Amino acid sequence: MRFADDVNPEGVHPVLWLFLGAIATRHRLDIGPELVVTSLRRRPGPRPSLHSPPEGELCRAADLRRWALDKAGFTQNFVGFLRRRYGQSLGVVLEPEELTPAQIAERGGRDKIAPHIHVQLKSTEWPELV
Ligand SMILES: [Zn+2]
Repeated sequence: MRFADDVNPEGVHPVLWLFLGAIATRHRLDIGPELVVTSLRRRPGPRPSLHSPPEGELCRAADLRRWALDKAGFTQNFVGFLRRRYGQSLGVVLEPEELTPAQIAERGGRDKIAPHIHVQLKSTEWPELV
């Protein structure tokens, strides 16, 4: 797993790290390159987000780069796998395709949304990963 330059990996929920490790392994097995995490903890913005928890709480969302998946024509398969395998505990959103018109407007329009996979914990219970 690699991190984009401006990613803040401080104060991330340990259950999210478990999922990211499992997702990175699957990514490497399926298409080869390392998974790149493009966002974890962010400063609070205008919208509430699990990327930006209140002071003292742990970050429960991550953004994942999808260029390599897109190039391999494997994005839908990968997202489908994540939902089947982890969907009970992990929310998975393919952005921008799966955002509502209101969510796209909130983000300033489709041009402002870099394509990525957003994942967030639905539960902080210790998962069964394999
Ligand atoms: Zn996100």
